[in-house]
Amino acid sequence: MTKLEGRRALVMGLGLFGGGVGLTRYLIKHRARVTVTDLREAEELGPSLEKLRGLEVEYHLGGHYEEDFRNADIVFVNPAVPKSSPYLEFAREAGTELCSEIVLFVERFRGVMLAVTGSNGKTTTAGMLGDIVSRFNPGALVGGNMGVCLLDRVDDAPPGLPAVLELSSFQLEDLGGIGWSPRVAVVTNLTPNHLDRHGTFAAYIEAKSQILRHQTARDVAILNAGDPQVAKLTELTRGSVLWFGIEGDEGVNFYRHRRDDTDKGRLVARFAGAELRYFELENFTPRGDHNVANALAASAAAYAFGIPLSVTAKALEGFRPIAHRLEPIATIGGVAYFNDSIATTPESTIAALRSFSEPLWLIAGGYDKGTPFGELGREIALRAKGCLLIGKTAEAIGRAIERGTEELAADGYRLHLETVEVAGGLEEAVSRAAQLAAPGEVILLSPSCASYDQYLNFAERGERFRELVGRLGSAPPATD
Ligand code: ADP
Repeated sequence: MTKLEGRRALVMGLGLFGGGVGLTRYLIKHRARVTVTDLREAEELGPSLEKLRGLEVEYHLGGHYEEDFRNADIVFVNPAVPKSSPYLEFAREAGTELCSEIVLFVERFRGVMLAVTGSNGKTTTAGMLGDIVSRFNPGALVGGNMGVCLLDRVDDAPPGLPAVLELSSFQLEDLGGIGWSPRVAVVTNLTPNHLDRHGTFAAYIEAKSQILRHQTARDVAILNAGDPQVAKLTELTRGSVLWFGIEGDEGVNFYRHRRDDTDKGRLVARFAGAELRYFELENFTPRGDHNVANALAASAAAYAFGIPLSVTAKALEGFRPIAHRLEPIATIGGVAYFNDSIATTPESTIAALRSFSEPLWLIAGGYDKGTPFGELGREIALRAKGCLLIGKTAEAIGRAIERGTEELAADGYRLHLETVEVAGGLEEAVSRAAQLAAPGEVILLSPSCASYDQYLNFAERGERFRELVGRLGSAPPATD
């Protein structure tokens, strides 16, 4: 186990999501001598620094110093730091030990770990699984990549206590380094993502596969039968495999059964030919098939951990969409507003668009990472009634919609898209959408892009949306 007491520990990347703060507190509690370094200046890190006030920490902010990396005994690297950082090279050269918050957690946690990874749906699936497990084992830990640092509870956790962890590919790379995989490992899906950091899709899959590479015969992998990349991972695990998938093809253990397209359906568990219908989707609040897939993955993981399906069904019934993930905000004048600010990729927005049958007004656009929008443009043309575009990518998405419209029209589709406008910003987009939408219709913020050009992060953008919608609700009704 990594020794802390009396050692010179350098925290690289304090950040604003809670991980750096929790880690720093833990290191101080265990009597390490802590220096925190971050590229950001103190003003930007204000909320995190405030939480550390009064603790004996040295700060080197607004940049890193080479000597810190050479002189430390151990460097705790934030998952957002690229592995190619020259500062990590200085540490390696000097023989400084490298570690991370999540590695420290799994080394010290004495309970049983269930972990979720994948390209999309990690937070939602881990949230559902967390709810199910907490119903069965009150006090269970739920955290990881979701802005919750679990280190403050790790020392007191009794053996046998479960922890549900959401793990990113960056965290998994570190965990692979210590040969760790959880008792129950869930992989939701795998699509090219974060290739700027991992280089190739193969390297990204290699990082994700760490979640099951070190499993033993008593462990279980929960894999998506509908995703060929995920299905291939079965070759790597020594544990048993439970399959989930929307379609109940042969060999799939957790799936959805529907009588016809009008039936919402129910979740079914199948083992050795016996089928058990354990949850009616009539009672499920989150929208979209992708959330049904997330519920199936969470159910299978809970089952692998020995939780009765009746407990799972109760927890799924009580589950509400997590903030900024297709989150219903309000219904004003018969128009329903949804916040999907987390959607920073076209696939996420496509999943969101497919979740509605009502006429829909989409607000999209943001920071430009050079993502291609071709498929998104087609999907918007196919499914939206109108689209209000914001941010740097407004023009590019607008052109993709135009192309999508032409292609679909040439293929003989009848489209309902009436309006595509570039709005100045989110405020203008919300008020314009509110003017255009009729009762019974939906206004959805699902930007497809990151938010850095206008907001600190997706959460700030989502909160701003909530506030703007709130203002509409409290404004006097229009008189004309
Ligand atoms: P992650 O933690 O992997 O980023 P989230 O659970 O936060 O995923 O969901 C983010 C967005 O991704 C959702 O709002 C939705 O649009 C999309 N999404 C969620 N689950 C899935 C899924 N299983 N498949 C495809 N897209 C999904």
